[in-house]
Amino acid sequence: VFDAALAQLSLAASLATGRRLNLRRLEQLTDAMCATVAEFGAMTGAPGGVLSGPVLADDVRRDVALRRFRSQAVRAVAGTDHYASLFSALELDPGRLTYDDVARLPTTSKTALRDAPGRFVHRDARPVTRATTTGTTGRATSVHYSDYELRVIAALTANHMVLRRLIRTGDVVALCISSRATLALGSVTSTCQRVGAVASLIGLVDPIDALAQLARGATAQSPTVLNVYASYLGALVEQGLRAGYRPRDFALDRILVGGEIVTEGLLRRARRVFGDIEFAENCAMTEIAPAGGTPCTAGHLHLEPSTGMVEVLRLDGDEPALPDEPGRLVVTPLPPYRETTLLLRYDTEDVVSALDGPLACELRHLPATSRIAGKRALALRHDDGWLFQRPVQEALEQLDVVPLPARYGYWRAGGGVAVEAYVRDDSIATRSAVRDSLLAASVPVTELSLETDPARLQRAHAVRADLREQSFIAQPTQLQAAGQA
Ligand SMILES: [Zn+2]
Repeated sequence: VFDAALAQLSLAASLATGRRLNLRRLEQLTDAMCATVAEFGAMTGAPGGVLSGPVLADDVRRDVALRRFRSQAVRAVAGTDHYASLFSALELDPGRLTYDDVARLPTTSKTALRDAPGRFVHRDARPVTRATTTGTTGRATSVHYSDYELRVIAALTANHMVLRRLIRTGDVVALCISSRATLALGSVTSTCQRVGAVASLIGLVDPIDALAQLARGATAQSPTVLNVYASYLGALVEQGLRAGYRPRDFALDRILVGGEIVTEGLLRRARRVFGDIEFAENCAMTEIAPAGGTPCTAGHLHLEPSTGMVEVLRLDGDEPALPDEPGRLVVTPLPPYRETTLLLRYDTEDVVSALDGPLACELRHLPATSRIAGKRALALRHDDGWLFQRPVQEALEQLDVVPLPARYGYWRAGGGVAVEAYVRDDSIATRSAVRDSLLAASVPVTELSLETDPARLQRAHAVRADLREQSFIAQPTQLQAAGQA
């Protein structure tokens, strides 16, 4: 206990000063925590885990965050081409930044990082991994990591996963995520090693093939946890229902879903195939790792302030968004977590709303925004405000006439919006069900075009389930054979 307390103190000191974490202590502490949870089933007295900083008053938290922002800015200006030229053009001293200066600092765009990733890598850093994003709104962005960063991120992920009981001793964790999601794969695999679980990479193969591998008895150990992108979960549900899969065919106990918007309709329909099990949403992002969001039961997205400084800026400008106003999520990953690819005020291009007033949820000690409403690039202004992906997708995925994942597009038309969607049949009943569902979700639909062939959609957005990987055999299952008989 004494060692653990000492290790925790040294970690707290690193958080305050921005000095490198002691990896050996961090890993020991994480392992000790995993062992405790494995033995006793839960940890008491440490709600935020080993690495959440102390719970601070708002003004203290602001001071600490500003100090850590400055130290990251000093490092970025001294070591990267991008920030050296930016600060010299602005004639700003990174060591003396005030909150007002921070607010005037231009945000870093995805395009800037994508076009010249080397300009953001500190010249003294020793990268060992280049991770690319698997986003669907443009070319991949790459971020470099050192061995230190990878180990810290792995320890933090384990800490988070184990405390939330998302991965437990004895689990078999099936991964249906892209094999290019280096950071996620590495972190989950190392969490499994620590906890005594098995990581089983299925990948984004033909959903029928994935279902066969997920089914009870198909492999030596049946998967108990599935980690999956929302759209690929949709594809599994769609194919699973068609092939006659039912909850009894699986030994799954939890599904960790994320990477994209997760709708109520998706979860409801997923229960038909996988049963009334636990669904946990996660929100990680390669560029800002280990900063990331944890959804709470009240529907907020909470961000651990020790890993990054979080801002919500207006959609049409760089001022802070007002409470309840939609804005862009802008994050600065802070020391001691990041030392290779340095990003100040990185514009994630995700839309969230700032929240108003004190929170009453179980994660109220952490700052929060609304859940992600969609991508900035897919936000549309109409006569009465903004339209984002979430309400359209919620409305569509509620309906059984819409195959999962929902395929849709929208654009401005006559003061409102035109919506196109892929449906099973274009009957009058379907048409009115889709229109009613959209209107109920406050989507001001003025034109509706329904297609029974997804290839005929004009402006449908790409989804991660489209990052399909080839495999040599798509094994027909017994269920399929029985269905065809
Ligand atoms: Zn909350």
